[in-house]
Amino acid sequence: MSTITKKFSMTINGNLISTEDEVPVINPANEKIIAQVPIATKVDLDHAVNFAKNAFRKWSMLSVNERESMLVAFADAIYQHREELAELFTLEMGRPIKLALLEIEGAVETCKALSKKRLPRIIVEEKENHYIERYHTPLGVAGLIIPWNFPVSLAIRKITSALIAGNTVVAKPSPYTPLTLLRIGEITKDIFPSGVLNIITGENELGQWITEHPDINKISFTGSTATGKKVMQSASLHLKRVTLELGGNDAAIVMEDANPKEIVKPIFWAAFRNTAQVCVATKRLYVHEKIYDEFLKELVEFSKTVTIGDGLNPESDLGPIQNKMQFDKVIELIEATKKSGEKIVLGGEIEDKPGYFIPITIVDNPPENSRVVVEEAFGPVLPVLKYSDYEDVIARANNTNYGLGGSVWGKDLELAKSIADRLDTGTVWINEAQVLSPDAPFGGHKESGIGVESSLDGIQEFTNSKTIMIKKK
Ligand code: NAD
Repeated sequence: MSTITKKFSMTINGNLISTEDEVPVINPANEKIIAQVPIATKVDLDHAVNFAKNAFRKWSMLSVNERESMLVAFADAIYQHREELAELFTLEMGRPIKLALLEIEGAVETCKALSKKRLPRIIVEEKENHYIERYHTPLGVAGLIIPWNFPVSLAIRKITSALIAGNTVVAKPSPYTPLTLLRIGEITKDIFPSGVLNIITGENELGQWITEHPDINKISFTGSTATGKKVMQSASLHLKRVTLELGGNDAAIVMEDANPKEIVKPIFWAAFRNTAQVCVATKRLYVHEKIYDEFLKELVEFSKTVTIGDGLNPESDLGPIQNKMQFDKVIELIEATKKSGEKIVLGGEIEDKPGYFIPITIVDNPPENSRVVVEEAFGPVLPVLKYSDYEDVIARANNTNYGLGGSVWGKDLELAKSIADRLDTGTVWINEAQVLSPDAPFGGHKESGIGVESSLDGIQEFTNSKTIMIKKK
């Protein structure tokens, strides 16, 4: 399949809904329009929210086990359609198909793992004449806003956490990558009671309407820090609960005892997986001066073995940048890096051909305050930086408004752990990167976000805390 003939519909109250106006979706590997998707109006959003609101009471009163069994059926249906979904994913997102399939299979596993979790009911006090218990109640309608870089896994994680906690959902994919989630809505429309899971598409303004809607009680947003700030502002209108998973500028610190040959491959993928369009991609790579030259040489050599191309080509390891806006942003950053005389040791030249392709670009020891170090590139441009002192590198790694993730690489695990403890980020990996677990909370410090996703803590974010006190006599 290199073109798509099917029509895509939104799923509202269990029905497939189209709109008069539609917006095109573009294949980033060749810039061709592959499909049209509905543009929800404010009235469409009101319908979806009303249906979700009406469905809430019954859904929230089901037992958690009943909700779990429907979520398992939801996951199974996605799994059964995984090949078709992976192809759609590659066409709209650009990522090589074998990796698209991994995201879909991973999302299925996450859905099942999160659905198993149970929020506790805790007896806080039990005395002869007084009793206190604490538990969690769902919030109502959850508005889920999803970015384009992980359009399935992030959507499924949010949907599962919201639904297992007893909320109903209105979910909005990015206008750049709406197809796979719309198709998941179509495939699974009869699994939940009507109105429980609604999937609607539109342009960015739809996101804003969701954040302002008086009958949406919770916003779970993943996207850029700039948009996250707007979301928080609009959500304050009705004091909606918010979880914000935002941008990052993760540092990787390679210690002096690391073996460049052993770690160069995992560090390459930490930086460039998904063509570097990963919130927790390594975006600043600090290497101890003792091994800097050898490491840089190995990194450049390994980078040359990686194939960038159309995701439908089985030879491709990396695909294009997902959209024109991001493509232009990354090119502008590369041009600015060249202009300021920084040393590009690999890549940096954009071929004049269809598709948003950018080569692996590595910058040798640019100044700490250069744009390529300070900004989140969200594309395959990596600054490699030299350091000689651990105190200094920790301070440099923390010298950013972001605080999402980071990693430390080397043999002395005690030293690595002591560095990890001092990095001001939500997650730090040692000798690995980008590993996520449904049992571990994931979230950002500082301007990388508020709250967490995944794990019981992530599910709890879709609830209110409730306390009951009883005077017995
Ligand atoms: P974005 O902020 O442009 O868009 C994200 C979503 O918000 C899209 O669905 C978009 O339509 C919607 N949106 C746009 N304007 C809105 C508004 N005013 N109100 C409400 N919604 C609005 O982000 P993006 O370019 O799609 O994603 C890339 C960014 O996401 C990067 O900064 C990346 O680091 C971050 N990200 C973070 C995580 C995380 O878990 N922390 C994960 C993935 C991506």
